[in-house]
Amino acid sequence: MSTPATIMLPAVDRAAAVTETPLGRLTVPAQVLPERRVTVDLTTLLALRDAARSAAANAHAPYSRFTVGAAAIMADDPQRRMIIGANVENATYGATICAERTALAQAAALGFRRVELLAVSCTQALDAPLADRSPCGICRQTIAEFASDDPPTLVLVDGGGADAIGDLLDIDRLLPHGFRLR
Ligand SMILES: [Zn+2]
Repeated sequence: MSTPATIMLPAVDRAAAVTETPLGRLTVPAQVLPERRVTVDLTTLLALRDAARSAAANAHAPYSRFTVGAAAIMADDPQRRMIIGANVENATYGATICAERTALAQAAALGFRRVELLAVSCTQALDAPLADRSPCGICRQTIAEFASDDPPTLVLVDGGGADAIGDLLDIDRLLPHGFRLR
């Protein structure tokens, strides 16, 4: 069963702020994004979110106890399987890898390079504000590495209450001014 829905990602229109200082110009860059309409299948989105929630049960998080699961569908995977990940912490802390990156690393190892949908579930923080349950900076950059415009990569952040599916972001809204190598 599929339940298609058109979702509107709102425009962002923030002008740059430029300050001429005695030591040189300082710019707070503009952020201008047009409104964007995307079509998602809600049945798939919910299944992916539930897969991310389930994957969190396998998190190796003995230090933080902050369990996170992720699940991705890759646009270049003809089988459109749900590829899961969970955070894997390490006693050295620095060797820790987040759920989003374990999922994308697995997808890459399977030969896929374009993420279409990625759900992330911080199961200890589902009722928390978005910043407490959304991808970290390294993960945003990693998601951007495998992002595509068509279909647009969408990231679902689990949470927001019992009646919510979650928060939906595209790459431009997830990682403004993200680095890219051209
Ligand atoms: Zn992360």
